[in-house]
Amino acid sequence: MLGLMQEWPLLAHTILDHAARMHGKREVVSRSVEGPIHRITYADLRTRSLKLSERLSADGVKPGDRVATMAWNTWRHLESWYGILGVGAIYHTLNPRLFPEQIAWIMNDAEDRMLFVDLTFVKLAEALAPKVPSLERVVILTDDAHMPETSLPGAISYENYIAEADGDFEWLRFDENTAAGMCYTSGTTGDPKGVLYSHRSNTLHAMMALQPDMMNIGAADRFMPVVPLFHANGWTTAFAVPMAGATMVMPGAGMDGKSVYEMLTNERVTITAAVPTVWLMLLQYMEENDCKLPDLNHVIIGGAACPEAVIRKFQNNYGVEVIHAWGMTEMSPLGTLCSMKPEYAGLEGDDKIAIQKKQGHAPYSVEMKITDDDDNELPWDGSTFGRLKVRGPAVSGAYYKNRGADQFGRDGWFDTGDVAHIDEHGYMQITDRSKDVIKSGGEWISSIDIENLAVGHPDVAEAAVIGVNHPKWSERPLLIIVLKAGRTATKEDMLAFLEGKIAKWWMPDDVVFTDEIPHTATGKIKKTVLRDTFGDYKLP
Ligand code: ADP
Repeated sequence: MLGLMQEWPLLAHTILDHAARMHGKREVVSRSVEGPIHRITYADLRTRSLKLSERLSADGVKPGDRVATMAWNTWRHLESWYGILGVGAIYHTLNPRLFPEQIAWIMNDAEDRMLFVDLTFVKLAEALAPKVPSLERVVILTDDAHMPETSLPGAISYENYIAEADGDFEWLRFDENTAAGMCYTSGTTGDPKGVLYSHRSNTLHAMMALQPDMMNIGAADRFMPVVPLFHANGWTTAFAVPMAGATMVMPGAGMDGKSVYEMLTNERVTITAAVPTVWLMLLQYMEENDCKLPDLNHVIIGGAACPEAVIRKFQNNYGVEVIHAWGMTEMSPLGTLCSMKPEYAGLEGDDKIAIQKKQGHAPYSVEMKITDDDDNELPWDGSTFGRLKVRGPAVSGAYYKNRGADQFGRDGWFDTGDVAHIDEHGYMQITDRSKDVIKSGGEWISSIDIENLAVGHPDVAEAAVIGVNHPKWSERPLLIIVLKAGRTATKEDMLAFLEGKIAKWWMPDDVVFTDEIPHTATGKIKKTVLRDTFGDYKLP
């Protein structure tokens, strides 16, 4: 027997309807790419998104068409997402930090028909356009006064583009399983793979994300996603924040410590979210300028393991609670967040930090398990580590065009490629990527654990640990360090610093100092390049 409830499809654009009706006066505040701070209410933002839908529809954009965006976090980018969703088309975020050849490859794979692009990336778009035959028209996210001379096909300013619509349009309604958004994984292994979100997955995911034990967003909050919308579905902020009715503060192109600090304080931000690199820059700026953060309540840190020093500084020096988070593009992207359940409430000092270094517990709608290489489930004892597998309504069931089928197991679980342990209360801790884990004498050494400790040394700007070939143990850890300017820590200092903090057999066999550690487009350490450079390093 079926239930007798109404058919009310979970369509992502209805989130903006809700924000406009229930929280219509709340603002979206952006640092515009042109410079000035811009303010708009949810009610007005919805009206403009509807105009965009109307214009897209008039231009022949049909349900299922891919419309690319390459833009910073601003109100126009947010409007673009909703305008695209409202006609059943698919927002396809492009990461401008990828190599141009890779972006062209991705656009061709997706067969993007249109591109919405920020002024910052017009030159890049000009280089891409001739290589993407499916691209018919480019909308530049600015007004006529700021339009550059450009060779882009059908180029028009966004303001001019929507000006022709009268707003007399209704969003389309369709099946909630319809594709809504697209984001390619960064492709550190082989070609990038397209992840295709649905309206249903985005909506359920946003509901999950804003819960008290997850991102904890309410209407009184002022939320700043520093994480760009083009990184892993913008960490669902484009949906969760309007759904909660919170004020949205968008940092535009200002990702440096000073600009982020200005937005945090001038706009009295209460919650913010980004990768550790952003916070390292902010903390350095704040230390140099003796800053305070009176309004900020908590900061969500994920995308890479959060260094212990970052947790300590936010909490001890600025009174800001850190919520460590783990996720991936394929998971919409949130998997776990490390808020304190009653089991761990009341912990203080090092005991609390020890829990916060974990990536946290999963909400309803994310199931996880750890297994050995033969798919046998491993115990949740907080120390046994294995392959982390997940399933849920906002977890990918396949990649676009059926690539990478091997990551989707026979049993319906997705293999995250991460190695983790889980404790008795469900707190998961990543110990490595399965391809980065160091296999020494048949035992696994976590490169992440050693890196996190090493960056806690006051002289260290960045640290990476890789396994290098060893005749007896097959692999041994090598610690690679970038020192802060003017600092002088030596190999002996580094090893003494680690002494007693890790098992003896985890101690790096050697320490090398370098000027720079290579990063991926999303700011992660490029271990493949380090392995190429140091793989045959002669250990002492
Ligand atoms: P990209 O490589 O494009 O940033 P993702 O954001 O999807 O793609 O990367 C997901 C991966 O990032 C995870 O599988 C995991 O390895 C790593 N990751 C994300 N958050 C954390 C975290 N808090 N701690 C450790 N690793 C993390």
